[in-house]
Amino acid sequence: MPLIQFLRRRWLLRRPFPDRWLRTLEGKVPVYRRLPQKYRELLKQRMVIFLSEKKFEECGGMVLTEEIKVIISAYACVMIIEETADYYSGLQAILVYPDDYVAPVLEEDEGGIITEGVEHRKGEYWGAGNIVLSWNEIQENLYGESRGHNLIYHEFSHQLDDRYGLTAGIDYDGRPLRDDEWTHTLAKAYRKLQRRVYERRTSALDLYGTKSPAELFSVASEAFFEKPDELHRENPELYTMLRSFYSLDPLRWRG
Ligand SMILES: [Zn+2]
Repeated sequence: MPLIQFLRRRWLLRRPFPDRWLRTLEGKVPVYRRLPQKYRELLKQRMVIFLSEKKFEECGGMVLTEEIKVIISAYACVMIIEETADYYSGLQAILVYPDDYVAPVLEEDEGGIITEGVEHRKGEYWGAGNIVLSWNEIQENLYGESRGHNLIYHEFSHQLDDRYGLTAGIDYDGRPLRDDEWTHTLAKAYRKLQRRVYERRTSALDLYGTKSPAELFSVASEAFFEKPDELHRENPELYTMLRSFYSLDPLRWRG
């Protein structure tokens, strides 16, 4: 880390945490109330640095308020409470749309003919250092119908995956290409989810995780933080692995 950044972070942490931000945490960030006290303090520190170093961009007519930035930052920082991952150092900008956005895609039919189409998306991780989020989807996740899902955890865990190459050792069929415990456990969880889909069974994990090992890791991270008891019941091995990766144990967070 450059000296100037080191000093700047130290200076930022000496200032009091703004009251407005604290009110947002208490009123609009449900996970905050569940966190043990020592994590509440650490979370605030992470957020101060995160909010000062990351750029937010308004897209598609979105108006970004301070409150929205605080909510997004809070969830992004819950994942790095214990292990900072250098504050997602590869990440440059967080693009926020008011609702689902339309992305151009190329589609190939069975005859191999490629046409241009569009796809509606709620969020996305662009390897080049950008995360795209739909604010409407985040609100649904936090206060509405789709509780148990969390787009912020989902997209930021793709960042962590990229940073550490967490799913790089697994192919699309779920075969491990590396011989370590992490890879084997994740590959097994991926195959298990594919089997559940085949058997038409439900899961604590979003079935979208069958799309690729990277998606499996992201839906597993969502479940780990949002419904730890369900995940632990269904796949204790996967839960334990994520607990050691994040150095956090959400099963114990009861406020
Ligand atoms: Zn994803």
